[in-house]
Amino acid sequence: MKAEHYVGGVFRSDGPSFPLIAPADGSELGTVPEATREVVDDAVTAAQRALRGSWGTSGTEERAAALRAVADGIQARFDEFVDAEVADTGRPREFARTVDVPRAIGNFRAYADLLYGRPERAYTTQVPGWSAGAGQALNYTVRRPLGVVAIISPWNLPLLLSTWKIAPALACGNAVVLKPSEETPSTATLLARVIAGAGLPDGAFNLVHGHGPAAAGEFLTGHPGVDAIAFTGESATGAAIMRNAADHVTPVSFELGGKNPALVFADADLDAAVDGTVRSSFTHSGQICLCTERVYVERPIFDEFVVRLGERASALDGYGPMISAAHRDKVLSYYRIAREEGATVVAGGGVPAFGDERDTGFHVEPTVLTGLPETARAVREEIFGPVCHVAPFDTEDEALALANDSPYGLASTLWTRDLSRAHRVAPRVETGIVWVNCWNLRDLRTPFGGVKASGIGREGGEYSLDFFSEPVNVCIQI
Ligand code: NAD
Repeated sequence: MKAEHYVGGVFRSDGPSFPLIAPADGSELGTVPEATREVVDDAVTAAQRALRGSWGTSGTEERAAALRAVADGIQARFDEFVDAEVADTGRPREFARTVDVPRAIGNFRAYADLLYGRPERAYTTQVPGWSAGAGQALNYTVRRPLGVVAIISPWNLPLLLSTWKIAPALACGNAVVLKPSEETPSTATLLARVIAGAGLPDGAFNLVHGHGPAAAGEFLTGHPGVDAIAFTGESATGAAIMRNAADHVTPVSFELGGKNPALVFADADLDAAVDGTVRSSFTHSGQICLCTERVYVERPIFDEFVVRLGERASALDGYGPMISAAHRDKVLSYYRIAREEGATVVAGGGVPAFGDERDTGFHVEPTVLTGLPETARAVREEIFGPVCHVAPFDTEDEALALANDSPYGLASTLWTRDLSRAHRVAPRVETGIVWVNCWNLRDLRTPFGGVKASGIGREGGEYSLDFFSEPVNVCIQI
């Protein structure tokens, strides 16, 4: 798969480039063009032109049809998308087949469904009423697109997370400039090919590749022609983007990092809690923003839980690599820091030896730690690898205090059979999402996002449509 920019309906790869490395075995997959300031300018200009042209006056039915055509186009090239995502990320093929690509298709279908046939619900409300001092008036609200939307996406779920923003942005009639992660350019290029054949006017969707700081990401998010920024990635990157966007007061929607807690109460179904924690801590080798890195277990079941989780982690097989050598080194540095801070390593803690080509890839062992104080760096900072720290608690209030003592607030998981406890505790956990006796069970219409350093705003269903459109009040005096 050759990575290319897609600007104003034209594929191009002029200018400098950098190598794309396969995390599964360290081999070179190809090269990626690095968008210069000029390429980014061209993309923003093309997006503005699309908004002045037919895309700017398109109706909701037309846009819903375009989204369906994109969904069908991805479906038609399903295996190519799977191959590209597997090559760029090294993830198990099954994951790309059952999660990444179906969810990308689902993202386009979901927003087509939300628009199609009920534009009045998405776009206008009519409220007859009184205007103070000016007699009776009819007020109504029109929702109009924001304009040019910059979408900056991460490497961990490249296609799933970029389409999660592209679909609602296009649904609302915006023009999009996507900059995917420099680590994972391939499915974005394939998506541009699908969109090129789906009947959207040139410039409605543009793609530029490249790095973030002092490069394409920064050129785009600081561009005066960009009307809104939707970003998923690290909290520190979010802060940098916010500073860059401040000069133009560009609105932002941020999905950022996490240090997600799980609370396992003594009345939990222990089998389900262990199974669930294996999934929540180690799926995609912990490289999902929703993964659990802090597990708090009520003292009577603490020892048994730790033994069982450690056994399951040690027995894991077929997990994927870290995205890059740099990220592997970062995760391993946290394994070392945890030891220096006094952790007991219950499982893992190092680099696996497979005896095959995976040994030149970027794998680390699924790791279970105990014995650290809450002040330890390995307990406070997001590691973003297959690792969790398990600590005991004695009371519900203590569990809540431990869970909430974090700069982050993305997602949490409660394991309990006590219904009253679940309802009592859930609203008190300071995270944007609270799962009870499950993890990562997602309905695309529900609000998705984090509190504290984990984000600004919510995505999902009407929440995304709200961000990607501007309510305009029209007031007519009667
Ligand atoms: P990252 O912040 O390093 O990079 C994300 C994107 O931002 C990339 O495209 C990168 O090129 C770009 N970027 C970097 N610096 C930039 C700058 N100064 N200006 C503009 N763009 C810039 O994140 P990552 O390592 O790709 O992804 C992992 C992180 O993403 C983790 O922290 C994870 O928790 C978070 N994440 C959050 C969610 C969520 O929904 N909350 C989902 C997935 C990942």
